[in-house]
Parts: sequence; C-alpha cells; structure tokens
Amino acid sequence: MEIAQLQPLVRTVPDFPKPGIQFRDITTLIGHGEGLASTIDHLAGRAEAMGAKAIAGMEARGFIFGAAVAVQLKLPFILIRKPGKLPVETIGVEYELEYGTDRLELDPLSVNDGENVVIVDDLIATGGTAEAAITLLRQAGAKVDNALFVIDLPDLGGAARLSRLNVAVTALMDFE
Ligand code: 5GP
Repeated sequence: MEIAQLQPLVRTVPDFPKPGIQFRDITTLIGHGEGLASTIDHLAGRAEAMGAKAIAGMEARGFIFGAAVAVQLKLPFILIRKPGKLPVETIGVEYELEYGTDRLELDPLSVNDGENVVIVDDLIATGGTAEAAITLLRQAGAKVDNALFVIDLPDLGGAARLSRLNVAVTALMDFE
C-alpha cells in the first residue's frame, strides 16, 4: 500500500489523554493486516538505506514496529525499557514530560561498540522520548545518526530537537 493509503488508517481521538490533545492512535493501523505489513515494509526500506546494523525500540509501541523491522532485515533488536523491567544492571536516563519526569533504561551489553543503531518508534512529538533513547544508546557506545517513526507531529518540534543532536528524523507521515 502507498503511504497515502496508510495515513487514513490512523485514528484520531480528540481530548486524549487530556482536553485539547488530538491523539493519533495506531491501534487501527496495526489492526489492518495489509496496512501493518505495508507500514513495516516502508520502515524497513528506510532503515536499510540508513545502513542499520541494529534496531532499537522504545517500550511499548516502539517494540511493535521496531521488532518487526528488525525481523524483516534480520538485524538484532535492542530494548529501551521503562524502569525496573530489565533483570540486569542497567543504565538509565530521566527525561522531562509536560508534567513531571519519566525514565528509560537500557542493558548496555545489548549494544556493540560503534554499531550503527537506528531508533524506531510509532510517533515523535516533542522528541523528549527519542532524545532519552539516543542518550542511552550513545552512552552504551552506539553510533546513532537516524531515528525512524511512523508519524511525525512537526509542529511540536521533535525533528528540530534531534537535529541539534545530529540525529536525522525520518517519518512515513505527518499530522498537524
Ligand atoms: P515525545 O517524547 O516525542 O514528546 O512523545 C513521543 C512519545 O509519546 C512516543 O513514545 C509516543 O508513543 C507517545 N505519544 C505522544 N503523543 C502521541 C500520539 O498522539 N499518538 C501516539 N500513538 N503516541 C503518542
């Protein structure tokens, strides 16, 4: 399927998680078998062109897309997890949310030194989550030059934020 046919499969839910937010919900995209397969094909094509040697995904929606891309390209998949989930010693980074902070963790042994790792997630908004993932992966020795998303919300400035970290953002589709 063309990306123009995939975009209408994303459901927009008004006022979630709070009033005034238009939540772009991928439940309906991944609930469409051909749409899901085609989304993965488009993402995998881009990751391959980026010379990915491993794919990293953020819990939880990043696991769906990231793991499928890794399988398609026969690459390793690296877990970026919410706190307290990994059974080994981890490195972690706190990052700002609109209200309060959150934290992501990584097993540093899951990354090979100098390896070209491409980050995959469902959506980039402010870029705070992706920035935290980049910080962790670089701390563990990865080379991170690209981050790949199904959806970009360009008005929220995520791509500009990551470009200041020398990470290029690629997304299949934009929403206002
Ligand atoms: P950021 O850190 O870039 O501000 O927010 C991106 C993170 O929040 C991603 O992990 C993404 O899954 C989630 N997120 C924020 N807004 C939306 C949205 O409208 N739809 C979806 N599916 N995820 C969102």
